[in-house]
Amino acid sequence: MATKFDVIVIGAGPAGYHAAIRSAQLGLNTAIVEKWLGKEGKPAYGGTCLNVGCIPSKALLEASHKYVDTRDHLGDMGIEVKGVKVDIPAVIARKDQVVSNLTSGVAGLLKSNGVTTFEGTAKLHAGREVAFTAHDGSTENLVADNVIVATGSVPVEIPPCPLTDELIVDSTGALDFLTAPKRLGVIGAGIIGLELGSVWSRFGSEVVLLEALEDFLPPADKQVAREAAKQFKKQGMDIRLGTRVTGTDIKGKQVTVTYTDSEGDKSEQFDKVIVAVGRRPYTEELLAADSGVTMDERGFIYVNETCLTDAPGVYAVGDVVRGPMLAHKGMEEGIMVAERIAGQMPLVNYDLVPSVVYTHPEIAWVGMTEQEVKAAGDEYEVGTFPMAASGRAMANNDTVGLVKVIADKATDRILGVHIIGNQASEMIAEAVIAMEFESSAEDLGLTMFAHPTLSEGLHEAALAVSGHAIHIANRKRKK
Ligand code: FAD
Ligand code: NAD
Repeated sequence: MATKFDVIVIGAGPAGYHAAIRSAQLGLNTAIVEKWLGKEGKPAYGGTCLNVGCIPSKALLEASHKYVDTRDHLGDMGIEVKGVKVDIPAVIARKDQVVSNLTSGVAGLLKSNGVTTFEGTAKLHAGREVAFTAHDGSTENLVADNVIVATGSVPVEIPPCPLTDELIVDSTGALDFLTAPKRLGVIGAGIIGLELGSVWSRFGSEVVLLEALEDFLPPADKQVAREAAKQFKKQGMDIRLGTRVTGTDIKGKQVTVTYTDSEGDKSEQFDKVIVAVGRRPYTEELLAADSGVTMDERGFIYVNETCLTDAPGVYAVGDVVRGPMLAHKGMEEGIMVAERIAGQMPLVNYDLVPSVVYTHPEIAWVGMTEQEVKAAGDEYEVGTFPMAASGRAMANNDTVGLVKVIADKATDRILGVHIIGNQASEMIAEAVIAMEFESSAEDLGLTMFAHPTLSEGLHEAALAVSGHAIHIANRKRKK
């Protein structure tokens, strides 16, 4: 006899644990199955995001930023600090502690919400039956009225760069270096390449990023991407675009990476290489032949706009389905599905998923880029505000970057907001809220922002759309 639940969630990453907790809040008898084993081989909740993704990378980004800021910039503010040193094993240990606090926090939240947890692997069969195999090999059959698949994603591996234990690693390996490699090669100058490249560059590595595309950071607005490339170059990161990696060769403790670019065949030697060329949906050993769940041509579980798969009562959310591979996108999908199961009618607004790159400066955006608006053939106005003109940025000794607001020319409705600068990750939330309420640039301009704040940059950029910004010279001033 199978143990029966209202909802079974497979995978306790951000998408899955949000789905489970919201289901339980709504009075549904909920179970979650999670197979992750943490560093000491202990079961761990939170998925990629908490264990080897968002949280550990941000812990390292913050530590490395504070190190560089203390060493190189506090002097500008009259604070004398001598002999600044970094103890990388201590940085890694603190990162691990943050991860462990959060993953056990998720376990506590599941428990306090009454979610039944199963630690091991789930396989989905027809009729929403789930075969559960515990870590000790014991098995149990579960069944539910609704199943939510949230099995996430794993790093893409490429044939020229097979991973090794120590020298050629993926993002997970790059969170645990105990010394900064002298020369670090990063394959892929996407979000992970830039974030983890920044971490190790700040801790002293000479970082070379080999990126296949000719374009730098194509999802971002071009003006912002240009500014970002300039800042990363200043920081010493060597970003080589249009490079095709053809192979790797290990001799002793050195990796030679061969690649071709517009000038022909080249090679570089590194002490370590990080492969960061994207992630792919993870569905291995998940679906029995009769599950009724289908995939799209890229291996994502096929779902409609409410995350329902082709199998009745089976939903899928997070990285394992189409859309950006971002924790907050998965969380909102998890909540939407739980509420739909409970009879409510929420939807996820896929047009307003914010993106953030947590480098320094941070890069954040929501909505359409100027290039996308132009390609759509819409008439538009742009307002930009350089952070160099912000009083708070000057007081903070951090004036790099800009805020850009794009609005429809006829209606003034905000179409996109693009920010590069300190705290862009926090400021972008204001833009998301404004756009969620279909605000015009004028609405933002009429809103009172506290002074002095970096957010005033968004206020001024919104005012600049109609030429009313106060702290910049306006060329298109209107009455
Ligand atoms: P996951 O977090 O991958 O969780 C899936 C879970 O399902 C895993 O715990 C897995 O063990 C479990 N599972 C899989 N199959 C089974 C099975 N058959 N039975 C039982 N359990 C199973 N996103 C952001 O939004 N912001 C960031 O700053 C950010 N930084 C990142 C940094 C790095 C280095 C990386 C790698 C990713 C980062 N991401 C970030 C992406 C983010 O981690 C993912 O988008 C997010 O974790 C996806 O959530 P998910 O719940 O869909 O899947
Ligand atoms: P990505 O898609 O952001 O970047 C991968 C880069 O590798 C791309 O620029 C691509 O052109 C390049 N590339 C692909 N194949 C290559 C090859 N053979 N040689 C050289 N370059 C190659 O992927 P990622 O950086 O691996 O991150 C994976 C996912 O994790 C992303 O989709 C992202 O959404 C998520 N993530 C998010 C954050 C965040 O929100 N701050 C941080 C890290 C990861």
